Order: sequence, then structure tokens, then C-alpha cells
Amino acid sequence: MTDKEQFKVREEPFYQAQGNEVALYEAAYAARLPVMVKGPTGCGKSRFIEYMAWKLARPLITVACNEDMTASDLVGRYLLEANGTRWLDGPLTTAARIGAICYLDEVVEARQDTTVVIHPLTDHRRTLPLDKKGELIQAHADFQLVISYNPGYQSLMKDLKQSTKQRFTAFEFDYPDAALEISILVSESGIDEATARQLVSVGAAARRLKGHGLDEGISTRLLVYAATLIKGGVAPVDACRMALVRPITDDRDIRDTLDHAIDATF
Ligand code: ADP
Repeated sequence: MTDKEQFKVREEPFYQAQGNEVALYEAAYAARLPVMVKGPTGCGKSRFIEYMAWKLARPLITVACNEDMTASDLVGRYLLEANGTRWLDGPLTTAARIGAICYLDEVVEARQDTTVVIHPLTDHRRTLPLDKKGELIQAHADFQLVISYNPGYQSLMKDLKQSTKQRFTAFEFDYPDAALEISILVSESGIDEATARQLVSVGAAARRLKGHGLDEGISTRLLVYAATLIKGGVAPVDACRMALVRPITDDRDIRDTLDHAIDATF
């Protein structure tokens, strides 16, 4: 049996609520309803789930999904060993057995066959079939399935099917509003409020370019990076170029526009 302890969130993660999402999540968890968190990258989705796992005192198993991920990566597989084969549970199976919250981050990236295995876990059956092993797992009473996805990346090829979407309750996240984002930057990096305010204003300028040359605005995560560099002694203009601009665009015009916004701010 897997040791639950290793998946415990030991320390309270710092999480600033954007609204009443904490109470709503508690209600969803009380009913063991599956949850989907939608929103752009780096806006606090994973932090929210970590915080909720801590608050509810449930183990948390996070799986970062990618396009090569198959159902076996989630469910488990037989391993070849010197004297035969041994079954190894995948993270979803472990979560269903121990009663963890299983967070499938960016599930839309994974191959279609993964959705087939999550479906029976999301309805009244709460089961997980291990086809290769010939075992049907009944999920632990505390188990809950959570998925995240970024609607911004959605394409016809990569969107969740309605038959999957309609098995979840959903939270729609966005970047925090300015006051909240300032306080997040201050708490996460220790910079002063005035500098945090300047960083947030650069973020706001970049977010206005979304759809006009930028696929996504600057995330809260990148603002935290810039704040951390500044706190570490890097000049604000350099920190912003390095953390806010260079990662998000290869387009010279957009880069110059953002660089000018930074020069005008600091
Ligand atoms: P994603 O939406 O991609 O899962 P994360 O949850 O990893 O994003 O958030 C990225 C970073 O932004 C976090 O590490 C944290 O520093 C910061 N952050 C964003 N929103 C919040 C929030 N509401 N409270 C605290 N930190 C936040």
C-alpha cells in the first residue's frame, strides 16, 4: 500500500482568494463532485488546488499532462523484472486507492484514450478499470478528480469533448485584479508595494496585447519571477525584460513595444 503521507501538503500554501471559490470548492468536495479549473497559464489554478488539498487535509497527486501521455501513464503498467513481471500503479490509480485529490494539469494535452479512463471515475460508479490487470477499482470515499485546462490553447484538435466537459463542475479563473495581484507579488517575493504596482501595470499593458500579436498575456507567475529577480538585486528594467518579455514573444515589434512600456514604467 502506498504511503499517503508523502502526498500530504504539509505547509499552508499562500493563496489569495479571488472570490468565493474556496467555499464553492468545499461544497464540491463534500459532494465529491469532479472539478475543472479553467484559465490562462500561471493565473493561480494549481496554487488554488494545492491550497484546497491542504485545507481539506487530503493528499494531493498532481500529474502534468503532455501530448505523449497515454492511459497507461495514468493507470499503471506491468514492468519487466528478472523473474517475471510486476504491476506498478499509475498516479490516478494510486489516488483512487488512497483517497487523494488527483489533479490532472492541462488534461487536454493528453491523448484521447486518457479521457476514457477518467469517465467512470466521474460518475456515480466512481470506478477505475485496470484493463491490462483485469481489476476494477472502486475509488476510495475521499477520492476526487480535478482537471485544469487553458481554453486559450484550445483548437479543434485539442479541446475537451462535451461528453467529458459535462462530467465536471467548473471554476473559471483569470489573472487576479490589480490590488490582489500587487499583494500576491509582495507576499511571494518580498518586494515593496510601489515596485509591485509598477510590475502589475506592465502586466496589464501586455495583457491588452493579447490577440494583437500575443497569444497570452504575461502571467502572474512571470510577474512573481520578475519581482523575485528585483528582490535579488537585479535592476527592474533588466528583470522585466528577462522575466516578462523574452519568454513570451519572439516577435520583434511586440518585444520592442513591451520594452518601451517597461522603460516608461521604471
Ligand atoms: P496555473 O494557473 O498555471 O496553475 P499557478 O497556480 O502555478 O498557475 O500560479 C503561478 C504562480 O502565481 C504561483 O506560483 C503563485 O506565485 C502566483 N499566484 C497566482 N495566483 C495566486 C493567488 N491567488 N494566490 C497566491 N499566489 C498566486
